[in-house]
Amino acid sequence: VARLSRASELPSRSFRSMGTVVSITLGADYAECMESVTEHIREIFDRLESEMSVYRADSEISRLSRMAGVAPVVVSKDTYKVLELAQYFGTLSAGAFDSTAGPLMRLWGFNGSSLPPVRPSQEAIHEVLKMVDGRRLVLRDGTAFLPVKGMTEDLGGIAKGYAVDRAYDYCLSVGIRSFLIDFSGNMRAAGRPASGETWQIGVRNPFDRARLIGKLILPSGGALATSGGYERFVDIGGVRFSHIIDPRTGCPVKGTASVTVLCADAATADALSTSCYVLGPSGARECLKKVASAELLIVPDQVSMEFFLTRGFNKLFAPAPELRNSVKLLSPN
Ligand code: ADP
Ligand code: MG
Repeated sequence: VARLSRASELPSRSFRSMGTVVSITLGADYAECMESVTEHIREIFDRLESEMSVYRADSEISRLSRMAGVAPVVVSKDTYKVLELAQYFGTLSAGAFDSTAGPLMRLWGFNGSSLPPVRPSQEAIHEVLKMVDGRRLVLRDGTAFLPVKGMTEDLGGIAKGYAVDRAYDYCLSVGIRSFLIDFSGNMRAAGRPASGETWQIGVRNPFDRARLIGKLILPSGGALATSGGYERFVDIGGVRFSHIIDPRTGCPVKGTASVTVLCADAATADALSTSCYVLGPSGARECLKKVASAELLIVPDQVSMEFFLTRGFNKLFAPAPELRNSVKLLSPN
């Protein structure tokens, strides 16, 4: 996804956090707040990263993984909340979302582990799956505990969305009414870029990053997240594997090219985009029934280009003219 249109004339700043880029755009009336808002949001993101990153040995999440099978660890309010949300979305998605999928990520060569020379065997996958089950995470009185040694926690499918919500709250708390936060495709908007205008977001074509499959209006307060296999993948023996793992099979997801979710908050959008990526069109439709106001666009990974979207998504979406015949409605029942 990418921000489009005249909003490019608005005050905006970018910085790096959690290994990717954060962009903040403010309505024209707030230009003089740009520096201070950027600094505050940078502080919020840096703190969340220091607590939740799997790439930092001193983060709370790394400690939680190291102490698996040993003892519970005390975590910050934010980490506790994100762990609770991760568990909640694990249940909601019937196990498609699982923040303990880390050992599988490593088996397939992600999260800094070395690339396996050949596709992991069924036996190896089966062994690693014994250490993957988000339901077993114990959350109690500000502490978190993984009961089995070797289990790990990975909040990569939800933490960016959560961070966007905290930045959103911060902006509202200091009286900014018009802004767009974009954290590598996890977005949330407030107000309008200018009177009579809307926040317009381009949804990238997962098969050709330079092109858009269409444009979406992001309503005030609304959040958007995209999960795409084109962002990060590994190549094992000439076959591409996506960085989203199906915790039910232990293998990287096949069959989905990208998923975009529109809903009321960015943590939910982030978790649901990862979940629906795993579930595919029909499973995603079932899952979304459980979340009020969540809307979806899903692009299957297949030769003929077609994509499915829910009615609510369709109302805010304009497909690229050449793809008008590729749009299929994902009916609610
Ligand atoms: P992005 O990497 O663009 O933020 P996602 O929000 O979809 O994309 O998150 C993908 C990340 O989530 C992976 O890099 C990994 O850390 C983690 N992950 C992979 N598979 C799952 C899964 N089935 N459930 C929850 N998290 C997952
Ligand atoms: Mg996600």
